[in-house]
Amino acid sequence: MLVDSHAHIDVKEFDMDREFVINECQILIVNAGVDFQSNLHTLELAKKYKNIIPAIGFHPEFVKDKVNEIDKCLELTRYGKIISEVGLDYFWIKDEDLRKKQIEVLEKFLQIAEKENKPVIIHIRGGMKDFLEIINSYRIRFVIHSFEGSVKIANKVIEYGGLISIPPIIVRDKVRQKVAKEIPLDFILTETDSPFMGPEKMSRNKPCNVKIVVKQISLLKRIEEIEIEEKIYKNFVSLFTSSLTTS
Ligand SMILES: [Zn+2]
Repeated sequence: MLVDSHAHIDVKEFDMDREFVINECQILIVNAGVDFQSNLHTLELAKKYKNIIPAIGFHPEFVKDKVNEIDKCLELTRYGKIISEVGLDYFWIKDEDLRKKQIEVLEKFLQIAEKENKPVIIHIRGGMKDFLEIINSYRIRFVIHSFEGSVKIANKVIEYGGLISIPPIIVRDKVRQKVAKEIPLDFILTETDSPFMGPEKMSRNKPCNVKIVVKQISLLKRIEEIEIEEKIYKNFVSLFTSSLTTS
């Protein structure tokens, strides 16, 4: 079974053919809400399609203009199986106060994740140092979605108990290829971040494109595609089942 550990199938880009895209291949799709409306839409989709796993969150970019939705999103987490999309985005948000707000919001979601024993799928652009300091004080299973750092930082994430998730953009990104080659398969997940991060620039990405990621990892690691697919599925399942070691 293929796994897309991070997608946004609720967005308007899929209004024309959502059902087809969801059923196009045998796949589990984690749909991540980014604000109140998309969290609601995510829950609706999960009700309708068995292969959609609902993730509830609040995108860090929205600390700018959707702060009034934060509490409502926190409340919706009880209906999701995963917490996402949450994290830190220092790439788009440069203002110090807004970055502090991102940390404050992230911690609120992490507290819920720890209490309810839910995995968290994290968006990080530029805030890795702060993030690792924060996550160190929680006992949570976490994944860095669309990881964009070096092998060294990937190993740091693994040391802190996290997994690294890789999108189809890997076919045109040498840094991600190096990471996928170097880190052990035990710590890798696949995703698409659909409709973003496609294998070709400006193309609409879709969940079944995780096949492209599996193929690329297979080439880099010289392991059969089917073995990669099965191992990634196991890694995903273990997010919900594995016992946590104290950090
Ligand atoms: Zn996303």
